[in-house]
Amino acid sequence: MIASTAPPTIRVTVWNEFRHERANPRVAAIYPQGMHQTIADALGRDADLSVRTATLDEPEHGLTDAVLEQTDVLIWWGHMAHAEVADAVVAKVRRRVHEGMGLIVLHSAHYSKIFKSLMGDTCSLSWREASDKERLWVVCPGHPIVRGIGPFIELPVEEMYGEPFGIPTPDELVFISWFTGGEVFRSGATWRRGHGRVFYFRPGHETYPTYHNPQIQQVIANGVRWAHTGLRIQDDAPNVAALEPLPADPDAAHRSTVSHV
Ligand code: ZN
Repeated sequence: MIASTAPPTIRVTVWNEFRHERANPRVAAIYPQGMHQTIADALGRDADLSVRTATLDEPEHGLTDAVLEQTDVLIWWGHMAHAEVADAVVAKVRRRVHEGMGLIVLHSAHYSKIFKSLMGDTCSLSWREASDKERLWVVCPGHPIVRGIGPFIELPVEEMYGEPFGIPTPDELVFISWFTGGEVFRSGATWRRGHGRVFYFRPGHETYPTYHNPQIQQVIANGVRWAHTGLRIQDDAPNVAALEPLPADPDAAHRSTVSHV
């Protein structure tokens, strides 16, 4: 009898502040159930992904301890309400990333509390909301995040983000975007933080149908699988005994017993 080779289910939570869709009819026409639902519906077509959503105005922003404990990869979209995200929730998310949870940060979430906190940098950029075309060039063709994508993705209309992007040098640069206006931008980048993996992916301004684009959906799904570590490691800075005999310690009585935690 041959054992099943089905991949393990990856538990994904798609988080969205879900404000533009309720305030701007133009955005609501593109995303009637919210951007989170469009992204979740696309991911939900893949048998190895189990997808839920959470939004800012739910209690604890929908990110209770139970939800976070059952999340392997968290996707984050925010823009107009970064400041309303509770610091306690940000701290919990950061702790889960350090334990091994994956985090995919989309578009204007470059200024989210969680991304800035994990990057330790300004995360600033230049921008223009006009009628630019965006071409995202794949600059790391062997990377799992760009599997099945080809040499580039072209988006007929998108908001422009330009350099300098205030991020620490990425571990891996996956996409570089070109815009009609002449700018370039590091639009797909990865970092390790603690035991977790972080992927920033630029496209997704709310007034354009970017998250309906099959290639964009494919990159997000690939990103989920790349960011999934399956790890849950809690580093608690233990005070450990030596494995081998040590020389006599004349200062033993004066050693600190204070925890480093
Ligand atoms: Zn935008």
